Amino acid sequence: MKTAETIKEVRKIVNQWRKEGLTVGLVPTMGFLHEGHESLMKRSLEENDRTVVSIFVNPMQFGKSEDLDSYPRDFEKDSCICQNAGVNLIFHPASEEMYPAQFFTYTDMDILTESLCGSKRPGHFRGVCTVVSKLFHIVSPDRAYFGQKDAQQLAVIKKMVQDLNFDLEVVGCPTVREADGLAKSSRNTYLSPEERKAAGILHQALECARQAISNGEQDIAKLRSDMVQMIESEPLAGIDYVELVDGETLQPLKTLEKPALIAVAVKFGKTRLIDNYIWE
Ligand code: AMP
Repeated sequence: MKTAETIKEVRKIVNQWRKEGLTVGLVPTMGFLHEGHESLMKRSLEENDRTVVSIFVNPMQFGKSEDLDSYPRDFEKDSCICQNAGVNLIFHPASEEMYPAQFFTYTDMDILTESLCGSKRPGHFRGVCTVVSKLFHIVSPDRAYFGQKDAQQLAVIKKMVQDLNFDLEVVGCPTVREADGLAKSSRNTYLSPEERKAAGILHQALECARQAISNGEQDIAKLRSDMVQMIESEPLAGIDYVELVDGETLQPLKTLEKPALIAVAVKFGKTRLIDNYIWE
């Protein structure tokens, strides 16, 4: 496995692979890798001759009052995980490599970024779209792998690739969970033992909605208010949003139609966690 810190090194390595006729998969991450990230790597390794994992805590997608400085980092451990998984190249740039002084160009999106996390985290998806388009230009992968856990991000990246004619396939991968159903996340490490226990309510609320829908419940307002009530029964949980939206446009649903995205963002202390269920 190789590690590159510069765009030039990545291009040299990937160009050589291309000359050999090899296909390339990219897994963009912010590091502090867990089994969720590993599932993306595994999928990429199965579907491509070579796999690149980028590890970059992208300052542009964090708001001023968010956790950029405290975001967990452990490059050595991440490197071991990638090595053991069989990854071919880690791209681990410094901030200045991605955003040199005098950086003026951005990728942004309307509509899909206006709901859910987009409405709660202004500028977040501009940061995500900008860094992901840069990574796509740097690595020029055949396929790029993203988790369904960040459902809005996945929908936004798919649309960006379509709208801006990136020549690659975006592959969405299922959410990997802890034993109690909590979605694995680098941010779970922030939780105190009490908060960690309380965070199980996220999956329970989504599971209740899933069951209600499969039992024939169609009433959006009722589905939503039952979830809110359930999450509010947990004293450590503070709801950021509970929404039922169209799975493609991410606009609020008036009637329950497939695909529907049921998405939640809940704070436990200072830690904001997201999760979702897609009815399709
Ligand atoms: P992050 O490092 O949190 O930016 O995540 C990098 C990629 O891993 C994103 O595409 C995430 O959606 C994906 N990911 C994060 N957590 C999980 C999980 N529990 N299961 C599957 N994919 C995940």
